[in-house]
Amino acid sequence: MATPTLPETQHPDLVGLGRAGLAAELAAFGAEPFRARQLWHWIYHRGTTDFAAMTSLSKVFREQLAAHYELGRPAVSRALTSVDGTRKWLLRFDDGQEVETVYIPEEERGTLCVSSQVGCTLSCTFCHTGTQRLVRNLTAAEIVAQIMVARDALGEWPPAVQPDRQVTNIVLMGMGEPLFNYDNVAEALKIVMDPEGLAISRRKITLSTAGVVPAIRRCGAEIGVNLAISLHAVRDDIRDRLVPLNRKYPITELLDACRRYPGASNARRITFEYVMLKGINDSPAEARELVRLLAGIPAKVNLIPFNPWPGAPYECSSEAAIATFSDVVFAAGYSAPVRTPRGRDILAACGQLKSASVRQRKREPAPLSAA
Ligand code: SAH
Repeated sequence: MATPTLPETQHPDLVGLGRAGLAAELAAFGAEPFRARQLWHWIYHRGTTDFAAMTSLSKVFREQLAAHYELGRPAVSRALTSVDGTRKWLLRFDDGQEVETVYIPEEERGTLCVSSQVGCTLSCTFCHTGTQRLVRNLTAAEIVAQIMVARDALGEWPPAVQPDRQVTNIVLMGMGEPLFNYDNVAEALKIVMDPEGLAISRRKITLSTAGVVPAIRRCGAEIGVNLAISLHAVRDDIRDRLVPLNRKYPITELLDACRRYPGASNARRITFEYVMLKGINDSPAEARELVRLLAGIPAKVNLIPFNPWPGAPYECSSEAAIATFSDVVFAAGYSAPVRTPRGRDILAACGQLKSASVRQRKREPAPLSAA
């Protein structure tokens, strides 16, 4: 039987610190201010995980850093690739908590779907993550780490960038409600958008929210990323059932916040996500009502075929119903693409892989405790 290994002494990890955090850490370490800029380049532009490779730093300084700090990544507890090229990583953090990150390659872009919380408090009745309780917010470092892991796996660090596999876009549409973890999400996105690091511009980042109205304005003014709203229904009684947060921030208030969203324009539309649930929200009359509600908002509509999960209380609308709904919205002048399901064979939809992993661990014998 293997003896449980004692954890190594953990040094503080520099990956995931923002500009100010890194500068403060290095100042406390006694390094000159320009060292923080050099490290920033190695960490976020080059993706280096080994101080020894930081050749612009003196050998002595590299050794001192290595003796005091880490350049870590969360453990990848599962990595899956779908037949359609979608990739999914289940990441495990030091406290054993797991989240999912999904990469969706398309012809013109590669989108990384990032999680913001472990579990979720929203309890949307059609969402699989909604069946998991909220465990905790992710730290800014854990949010940034999802992008670092994807870039590692896709071979995307200079100078050896693979031109056909790149993270060009980020969507905060993974597990959790990003606007309930606003400060850490904002800090993480600042790191992600920094032009001397990961350098993904605000125009290529979309934050999806179930409608935390007070945080929407802040998000526009302070982070300035694209906004997506999980609308899913055109009447409060139905939306109350699908997205319980609607009881706190009903449709009219939510749409008012969208009308005032700083930066929204015809060139930068707000995306309205609408999950297609058979017999619940998918009638042509509801499509017409949706068009009426969106008047005055620079909007596009994203119709999402419901992705079923075991025990889900809904079914996906028929193809014909989705097509009719899309036609009505399109005829009113809105783009209304139907989102193609991706990565179904690897449980790529929100929360599914994590649940499978938790079930599997429950079947395994309890690990030896190192206490
Ligand atoms: N909490 C945020 C972001 C996470 S959910 C939000 O609500 O927007 C990302 C998107 O996936 C949301 O539009 C959500 O409603 C949708 N979604 C969740 N479960 C789904 C399922 N089973 N089928 C289709 N879409 C789903």
